[in-house]
Amino acid sequence: MSSDPNCIFCKIIRGEIPSKKVYEDDEIFAFHDIQPVTPVHFLIIPKLHLPSLAEAGPEHSAVLGSMLAVAGRLAREQGATDGFRTIINTGRVGRQEVYHLHMHVLGGSDPLGPMIIRRG
Ligand code: 5GP
Ligand code: ZN
Repeated sequence: MSSDPNCIFCKIIRGEIPSKKVYEDDEIFAFHDIQPVTPVHFLIIPKLHLPSLAEAGPEHSAVLGSMLAVAGRLAREQGATDGFRTIINTGRVGRQEVYHLHMHVLGGSDPLGPMIIRRG
């Protein structure tokens, strides 16, 4: 499915829900998390509606590579100049809340902590 009419991240890509955009190209979109847990906290998502990393296959290699390849530049541009953390929560066990694949990019505090401790 290329776009899901009911998915909040598909709506963000289509501009139906406002977001603070960080970056966009033909295949990916990046925007600030609405509830940041670190000073720099944005999400990189494929424009294609892919529910989670569990559904990814070889046909998604290019877009997954693009998400990783752009992370460092965007993190630096957002002020995470000395490192950052990437997280992809997947499925119930991974405590994924939004079922459109997304990569968190977290940084801007030094140190970041051993791992991110989630609220709730
Ligand atoms: P997950 O737990 O699925 O990995 O994380 C989903 C993330 O999406 C959460 O950090 C949450 O704050 C963020 N989020 C949920 N809804 C919205 C929204 O409408 N706009 C933005 N910018 N972020 C959202
Ligand atoms: Zn979607």
